[in-house]
Amino acid sequence: MRLSRLTAVVVGVLLAALPVTDASARERNGGRDHDRLSWGARLLGRQVLPANDGWAAAGPGTTGGSAAGPDQVHVVSSRAELVRALGGDNATNRTNDTPKIIYVKGTIDGFEGPDGRLLSCADLADPEYSLEAYLETYDPAVWGRVAPSGPLEEARVRSVANQTRQTQINVGPNTTIIGLAGATFTGLTLMLDGANNVIVRNINFEDARDCFPAWSPTDGAAGNWNSQFDLLSVRRSENVWIDHNTFSDGDNPDSAQPIYFGRPYQVHDGSLDITHTASLVTVSHNRFVGRDKVMLIGSSNTVGPDVGRLNVTIRHNVFEDSLQRLPRVRFGQVDVYNNYYRLGGDCFEYAWGVGVQSAIYAENNFFSLRGGAAPEDVIYDWGGTALTERGTWVRAGGRAKPVSLLAAYNATHDPDLGADAGWKPVLRGVPVLPTPLVEAVVPALAGAKLPL
Ligand code: CA
Ligand code: CA
Repeated sequence: MRLSRLTAVVVGVLLAALPVTDASARERNGGRDHDRLSWGARLLGRQVLPANDGWAAAGPGTTGGSAAGPDQVHVVSSRAELVRALGGDNATNRTNDTPKIIYVKGTIDGFEGPDGRLLSCADLADPEYSLEAYLETYDPAVWGRVAPSGPLEEARVRSVANQTRQTQINVGPNTTIIGLAGATFTGLTLMLDGANNVIVRNINFEDARDCFPAWSPTDGAAGNWNSQFDLLSVRRSENVWIDHNTFSDGDNPDSAQPIYFGRPYQVHDGSLDITHTASLVTVSHNRFVGRDKVMLIGSSNTVGPDVGRLNVTIRHNVFEDSLQRLPRVRFGQVDVYNNYYRLGGDCFEYAWGVGVQSAIYAENNFFSLRGGAAPEDVIYDWGGTALTERGTWVRAGGRAKPVSLLAAYNATHDPDLGADAGWKPVLRGVPVLPTPLVEAVVPALAGAKLPL
């Protein structure tokens, strides 16, 4: 088989399937930013999610900002320009539902102050907070293994609020954010909260670090440091398409962080967390590399408003050298197909987290497993009952071959998980590739490398 030719055909099919809207309005556009864009950038910026392409195609579908008028096409290269394009005030932009297309050029740093100067963590800290005081006060040897409280913890919480206003960028409904080549968000959390109909494409998301991690003494056997800033958060939103992005810790990996109280000082949280009743999300062609926590779908075991929500399609993504939540699911019907996983190393925890009332339907995924990761380690039972698995292949050392990860899990764990998650995906506008092709095709397409 000539694989390169096959890859080209697959790329062609995937790109050709993407419709374009409102071409004539584009040609009439007199906007200055718009005129600076290449033809290809204009085309990709107006693209909508194809029909039937995953859960985000349900209901009204996902068109993002494709209906934007000429004055709502923006090219931004600083935090201030990004906030202006989103509506002008980061405190209220989440309610700005004007259709808008925002092209990101170069690197935007969430720590950029009003004058463009980069703020430090000290600039954002409450006057009553310091890490030194925090480490002295809440050392388990002094404070005991109970949650921090009192004036210093309150000062930390105020510091987090300061940082949230600075580094969390709030997006409103009917928005497309798309990166020109090399576009990067660093030190920045993109927050979609109550933001229906949003498209995010072709962005390198790096290092959404938390300046003020919290000590959680009863999280795990030895306690943990926890952060609150994801690279991209989706909450209370529907019809969201996350496509062709790369998620990493940039030049600030967890391995470079200090150890406090015997535990790693974790300044990072999720890559792409979908929580708080969000639903109808398609996650396609992204690359998640070198991250600890990747994709949390549902953040609470409470049987309440999340029931019937959290429906997500995860197709043709690469999960590489990442440790957990690939994804971890509660409640949702989550279609996981044709993803490529390259996992292993001492810190690897698990890939598919089967949580409370979760319904993962996993089909034709490819796993390359190295030291420290075996087929029985891929699934973790977080209180679920079943998942559907079809067509998984695993390469562990030698030749790749079909492997049932569920059978491997059940052979080594009790209680067993069932083999029927109770539903079958129908929103699959992009056909399912035979699993042996996933290793060659999916990494070639995944990540922030659209030709803009
Ligand atoms: Ca999170
Ligand atoms: Ca068993």
